[in-house]
Amino acid sequence: MLVQAIKLAIVTAYCGCTICTPGSGITASGESVQEGLTIAGPSELPFYTQVHIESVGMREVHDRTHRRYDGRFDIYFEEHEDALSFGKRRLKVCFHVKVSSHLDTATVGDSQNLMNLDR
Ligand SMILES: [Zn+2]
Repeated sequence: MLVQAIKLAIVTAYCGCTICTPGSGITASGESVQEGLTIAGPSELPFYTQVHIESVGMREVHDRTHRRYDGRFDIYFEEHEDALSFGKRRLKVCFHVKVSSHLDTATVGDSQNLMNLDR
């Protein structure tokens, strides 16, 4: 079952240059980067999750945002200047998440919190 999630997220941009990505042009998922498709997403989202970003459009998670910036979305551009001019925005993002063990974990976590409160 898929559940729709809409939230405000910080959206930034990057390209394949050594300033933006000190690594290679290969994403964390193993796909090669593609402008108009590739975004880096937070670790909570599985690869290939489709994300609709306000004023940007549909993108797909092929990469991971830096640990330090987890929770953000990073849009891939071919030109460094395009990435620079996109800057940093706070945008509405919309995606579907599978109801799975993620939620089970959250439920377990909640009940543990309740138990702690009882003490
Ligand atoms: Zn760059």
